[in-house]
Amino acid sequence: DTALCWFRRDLRMEDHAALYSACRQAKRVIGVFIFDSVILDPLPDRQDRRVEFIWRSVEALKREWQAHGSDLLIRIGDARDEIVAIATEYRATAVFASRDYEPAAVARDQAVAQRLQALGACLVTVKDQVIFDTDEVLTKDGRPYSVFTPYRNAWLAKLSPFYVQPYPIQRHVDRLVKLAPAPMPSLLQVGFGESDLTRLNIVAGEEGASQRLADFLARMDRYRAERDYPARKAPSYLSVHLRFGTVSVRKLAALAWQQGSDGAQCWLDELIWREFYQMILHHHPHVVGRAFKSEYAGLVYPGLPEHFEAWKQGGTGYPLVDAAMRQLNFSGYMHNRLRMVAASFLVKDLLVDWRLGEQYFAEKLIDFDLASNNGGWQWAASTGCDAQPYFRIFNPVSQSQKFDEVGRFIRRYVPELAALPDKLIHSPWLATSAQLAQANIVLGRDYPWPVVDHAVQRPKALALYGRG
Ligand code: FAD
Repeated sequence: DTALCWFRRDLRMEDHAALYSACRQAKRVIGVFIFDSVILDPLPDRQDRRVEFIWRSVEALKREWQAHGSDLLIRIGDARDEIVAIATEYRATAVFASRDYEPAAVARDQAVAQRLQALGACLVTVKDQVIFDTDEVLTKDGRPYSVFTPYRNAWLAKLSPFYVQPYPIQRHVDRLVKLAPAPMPSLLQVGFGESDLTRLNIVAGEEGASQRLADFLARMDRYRAERDYPARKAPSYLSVHLRFGTVSVRKLAALAWQQGSDGAQCWLDELIWREFYQMILHHHPHVVGRAFKSEYAGLVYPGLPEHFEAWKQGGTGYPLVDAAMRQLNFSGYMHNRLRMVAASFLVKDLLVDWRLGEQYFAEKLIDFDLASNNGGWQWAASTGCDAQPYFRIFNPVSQSQKFDEVGRFIRRYVPELAALPDKLIHSPWLATSAQLAQANIVLGRDYPWPVVDHAVQRPKALALYGRG
């Protein structure tokens, strides 16, 4: 009997639950990846970094299958049609895949399952991208958590070596069907051109993930102390690899758990946040496009389109916010503290609808993940499950003074302010004309005046939410 292993956001060979299950249950296993036109066709940017990242990761994966004397079949088209066509062609009785919790993926998988069933085959989805599935960490009365801390405590209490045990496929590679190697379709054939991944030093595939992991392990114990300072190389930068499954979350959780330092524990909490938001998305799919908290679902944000535009361009006049947005635009990445600051500023200072910001991040972030992005935005907008209360509003200047004290991060991305003294770099509008002249800055020419005044906007945000 033959089974397919359908790769999606699990682009690796190591510790692969679906591949392992396929090898355990079928004598012959064929690997498949589909460039899904349903997802790719609407993408506006034809040099999309994510597509190139996927393409490079798939290319590496295909090489691995070929090294085992097999091959990874690649198709371009509507995934629902293509997977059913391959199953028919190879007379597969089962298709194994890692479970995906995004509503569109769930609908796609349901459609595929139905069509396979009509052919006498089945779709088997297995847990892979989380340690605990959506029904494995529940409250005492069997309900999903909607507050992080008790969820985290229950998650940690349940953790045991069993749940982070790897799925070793090495013992089963003889199950991979011998196939003549077929060429990898070019990125152009997929409909895209090269982006700037190489310039950004982003290495795709398992190789890229292990480089970043090795680099991070050396500083993991300092994570708690340093992670909030964007100028420091403190976080792991593994988010894109977690997004596309070029690293196993079991492996990461096991490493952090075993290492056990204060920093490692703090990092493990972040992996738990990731699962928390995946679980929220699964149990409350209405969060896509709507406030989690119904009392805020009807809020009408009065923010101006030109303010949204200034925010996107990194031209709000608030240096830390602008540096953050320029980091995003330049690299497709933004530091976590800055995601919170930039999101809060858009919603609570510019009074722009959080969904617009969420959408902009979704277009730009190379690690864009529906569950985490939505969770992060709803947290900052105070509309989410376990969100920042609406009356706690980040002050963009004190955030800057606290987390980029000497302006190292600001100077990197807003070089026009570089010559300002550290104290003034957080709020250049407070500089005297002599200080500005000395730094060779004319506000309004070299760098914008602030588009709004935080002190004026804050009560407006409070009134907006207070009415909610
Ligand atoms: P590390 O600090 O090394 O953390 C390790 C991993 O834990 C991350 O790779 C990520 O998978 C997970 N993680 C860390 N923080 C969070 C968090 N707050 N919520 C959920 N998971 C977390 N993360 C995404 O992966 N994709 C997104 O689209 C995304 N959008 C966000 C939007 C907003 C407004 C906010 C506030 C946060 C968002 N995050 C998102 C969470 C977080 O900012 C990133 O995961 C993190 O900055 C990625 O960098 P890293 O891999 O170096 O993280």
